[in-house]
Amino acid sequence: MKRVYFFGNGKADGTAKDKNLLGGKGANLAEMTNFGIPVPPGFTISTKVCTNFMDVGEFPHNLKIEVQNALEEIEKIMGQIFGDPENPLLVSVRSGARQSMPGMMETVLNVGLTSETIPGLIEKSGDERFVYDAYRRLITMYADVVIEKSAGIEPKEGEGIREKLNGIMNKMKSQQGVDNDSELSGESLKELCVLFKAEIVNTLGEEFPDDPDTQLWGGITAVFKSWNGKRAVSYRNIENIPHHWGTAVNIQAMVFGNMGDNCATGVAFTRNPATGENVFFGEWLPNAQGEDVVAGLRTPNPLNNLNEGGDAQNMPSLEDSMPTIYAELDAIQKRLETHYNDMQDIEFTIQNGRLWMLQTRTGKRNGQAAVRMAVEMLEEGTIDEKTALMRVKPEQLDEIMHPMLDEQAEKKSELLAKGLPAGPGGASGQIVFTADEAEVWHKNGKRVILVRNETSPEDVHGMFASEAILTAHGGMTSHAALVARGWGKCCVVGCADIRISVVDKTLSANGTTLMEGDWLTLNGSSGNIYKGKIRLKPVDLESNIYFQKLMQLTDRHRKMGVRTNADSPADAKQAREFGAEGIGLCRTEHMFFDQERILAMREMIVAGNEEDRRKAIMKLLPHQREDFYGILKAMSPHPVTIRLLDPPLHEFLPQEEEQISKLAEELNITTKELKARIENLHELNPMLGHRGCRLGISYPEITEMQARAIFEATAQLKNENQSPFPEVMVPLVVSVEEFTNQKKIINDMAETVKKETGTQFEYLVGTMIELPRACAIADQIAEEAQFFSFGTNDLTQTTYGFSRDDIGGFLPDYLDQKILPADPFQSIDQEGVGSLVKMGVEKGRSVNSKLKIGICGEHGGDPDSIQFFHKTGLDYVSCSPFRVPIARLSAAQAEVS
Ligand code: ADP
Ligand code: MG
Ligand code: MG
Repeated sequence: MKRVYFFGNGKADGTAKDKNLLGGKGANLAEMTNFGIPVPPGFTISTKVCTNFMDVGEFPHNLKIEVQNALEEIEKIMGQIFGDPENPLLVSVRSGARQSMPGMMETVLNVGLTSETIPGLIEKSGDERFVYDAYRRLITMYADVVIEKSAGIEPKEGEGIREKLNGIMNKMKSQQGVDNDSELSGESLKELCVLFKAEIVNTLGEEFPDDPDTQLWGGITAVFKSWNGKRAVSYRNIENIPHHWGTAVNIQAMVFGNMGDNCATGVAFTRNPATGENVFFGEWLPNAQGEDVVAGLRTPNPLNNLNEGGDAQNMPSLEDSMPTIYAELDAIQKRLETHYNDMQDIEFTIQNGRLWMLQTRTGKRNGQAAVRMAVEMLEEGTIDEKTALMRVKPEQLDEIMHPMLDEQAEKKSELLAKGLPAGPGGASGQIVFTADEAEVWHKNGKRVILVRNETSPEDVHGMFASEAILTAHGGMTSHAALVARGWGKCCVVGCADIRISVVDKTLSANGTTLMEGDWLTLNGSSGNIYKGKIRLKPVDLESNIYFQKLMQLTDRHRKMGVRTNADSPADAKQAREFGAEGIGLCRTEHMFFDQERILAMREMIVAGNEEDRRKAIMKLLPHQREDFYGILKAMSPHPVTIRLLDPPLHEFLPQEEEQISKLAEELNITTKELKARIENLHELNPMLGHRGCRLGISYPEITEMQARAIFEATAQLKNENQSPFPEVMVPLVVSVEEFTNQKKIINDMAETVKKETGTQFEYLVGTMIELPRACAIADQIAEEAQFFSFGTNDLTQTTYGFSRDDIGGFLPDYLDQKILPADPFQSIDQEGVGSLVKMGVEKGRSVNSKLKIGICGEHGGDPDSIQFFHKTGLDYVSCSPFRVPIARLSAAQAEVS
């Protein structure tokens, strides 16, 4: 079995297709090499070695020899020898999994520097400063990645070895009165290395190894071990990356961006990852080594003059500083984008005026950018419609629909500071200073903003729990920015004016000091930050042409309809603007909670006889008619599925003493009588009690009134030349007898209203399928019903026997112990609840092949569930108005994939 794959000198063992084996980084290094792009030579140890190492805890014995042989290949190309005192080769040890896990930082640079090789490299390079700069970086990375993290040591917040060593360096910088590490002299750096090594022994009780092979194998082992490190596991859990993939290790000859002023390093995107605009976008630092740009210790310069980069705009661009190299880089980025047919995220280093490419991968982008890139690439003709549709994750649309700060309110607020705009939209939240706090506060229902000097992969759980992220350091390609962009989270980075004290839990900026728990507002699109809360304003999708074009594309490809759940004309109108093609669920009970209506409702409920009940009910009629009129009109000519009264009656009754006596007075009965009636209505298990169609069966006058309101509104609209189309839905049916009972009342009322108004209209009568028994006898029900709508909330509730309102008590344990893969109320349980849905569909269609079938409930807006409903053959899904675009895209993806 081949374990080691070489790349260099224009030829590589692997290609971009070998991602599973070589990891994304290794596969693309091979691809670029084959492509004739300048890549420092190196080799990749495959992911199989990692998975094997995790199983057995050691390396296959031949690996050492294979690595040695590959190293000799590098030595030949570079004309240097690893560990040689006169002419030493240095290498980087880089991790790289199948899917990029940005900023995992398990990379060690400058491996091979020891007390023996240092003098040789100084001699060869003629630059002592450079060598000690490389050495202090090696010591820092090695101590952090190999000695500390891979040993499973978890230092307290702020006390990790990397922070300690950075602290020593910062102290030296302030003693010498310099701002940047690039201003430290060779002598100082040399001294720093001594201090660093002492601190490592002091903190970790271990010597930094002075032997090249120990460094190399320490690095390799650490990369493999890091796959099962806490932060990697947590990132994979959030991103749903399988734990069995393993990572590859890349060993690559070093090129140096820190050898002086004609050296540099940078990170770039072939298109702007925040806006999607088709302009080459990136950041660079002169005289620096790779991780400086990403780690955010220095705020980098913009690559070119095409982009607005906030404050960075005033700093010299690479385009101006090194025009020839910039032109070469620009040509390479164009080739890479064309070759991969997608936006690329690239890393490069310039050593003594020579450009080297160190990485390319498909770049992460926010929702805004994903939509624009997909649409523009389609228009450029580089991708087809199907690919364009698949380029946007349905959830990313959520971001475009994210609120922005209200401009007026923002103008009136006092600016606290300004950073770089790294994430979309606006957010307000309470300040927390550590990732753990963020998680705890979030669990307690608070909205928080995580404020850090810079973030690292250890912070991902806290970043996930936060509304927004603010960092004092770092650029648009820093870890915080990358992660936030991936999630579509509001984020501001490189906010140089703020001072953070994690110990005192304070944030100060321009004379103002804020404490933990204080409110802060970020504008992730401008980089502005403000004290306090600022109103957010709803999004304007009308003017987003890319979004509109993508939506048109989804409509061309999807077969499944998308409706909305709406109970008011305003919601209906909103949903129509988002593209809803009807209402899948209009819940009539929401209409009863209104102040003036609740009284009539209560009168009806406590009525002692049918006559009183009818009287009370007729008071509700005009209100209901008005509601239905508004909704049917807003949706005309699309259908509106109106569900008859569903919840248990006692939900409408007053609970408090004072309210009870007030109601008694108004009803002209004694408090005692009223209490007895309420007592009577009390149920031990109301969700399984007197509700749904059971109400309409006991009190047919309720169904009559509702049907009358629907049809009178329909007739009125018909007379106004509208095209209303009501679908009357009977809830919670378990037997065909229940359904026919209610259907007769509804049909009779339709006839009555037609006669009374002299108006003809069309309508359907159908049922909600939301109990397991209804699925089992769906063929009987389909003989009578004109449509089915699966109520997957109740169906999930009754299939599992889990109360949706009480699942919070045990769901966390179930998820932790992997008893459930996910919350079944969010994403449909395909094998259990899903098979009941399937059974319902098959039985229903066996009787009536044209039966219209939809689904309403939370699952109608969940992309995975939508895929499932598509497969099951449903005609439409229905979801809340703001999920409609997500459902349209999911339905189209289900069709083309
Ligand atoms: P990540 O996966 O976190 O991006 P990388 O393996 O890409 O980690 O490395 C971190 C940084 O070190 C990057 O900026 C990269 O360009 C730089 N780097 C890696 N290998 C080399 C090398 N051989 N020569 C110069 N810089 C390197
Ligand atoms: Mg990288
Ligand atoms: Mg229900």
